[in-house]
Amino acid sequence: MTTLTLQRPTLVLNRNWQPVNVATVARALVLVWNESARVVDPSDYRLYTWADWSALAPRADEPFIQAIRQRLRVPEVIALAGYDRVPSAAVSFSRRNIFKRDHYTCQYCGVQPGGEELSIDHVVPRSQGGASTWDNCVLACIACNKRKADRTPRQAGMKLRKPPVRPTWKPMYARESGRIASWSKFVSEAYWNVPLETG
Ligand SMILES: [Zn+2]
Repeated sequence: MTTLTLQRPTLVLNRNWQPVNVATVARALVLVWNESARVVDPSDYRLYTWADWSALAPRADEPFIQAIRQRLRVPEVIALAGYDRVPSAAVSFSRRNIFKRDHYTCQYCGVQPGGEELSIDHVVPRSQGGASTWDNCVLACIACNKRKADRTPRQAGMKLRKPPVRPTWKPMYARESGRIASWSKFVSEAYWNVPLETG
């Protein structure tokens, strides 16, 4: 229960109260504890330091964290004290994240045959010195993979739909189920609809 609660999302605002990230409750509490941020009460926009916040008793109907001597209220929104931006965690270069970045879509012909039918293609083949990096790996369907073989797109007469780049997405932003009702006071609906990746 406590572990799940610690994994709940907390909206992170910068000093200007613009949303910059979504962090876990665990991370949010650390930021408040070390005075990098304060908790925002969405009902009245009051700010709480760690001392203020930890002195509050959770209501009977709300989630809480069982600490050693007390129950802690779970923050839904925090505001950073000193930074204008939270450095977003780098998206790790992994098979799973390449599938996510490319939306399970062949980057040559655009088909979406399902994960089983897609593989990771080195744009510049490894045999020609191509590296395993965000900007040299894309999803390709079986047919395109076969056609391209051990060649560059130019050598194979194929064209990438877009140049591959390192994604800068914030995965929790996109998940409707991961949002909390009170966040709507800080975040417009349009905000959620921004593309997950930027070039
Ligand atoms: Zn294809």
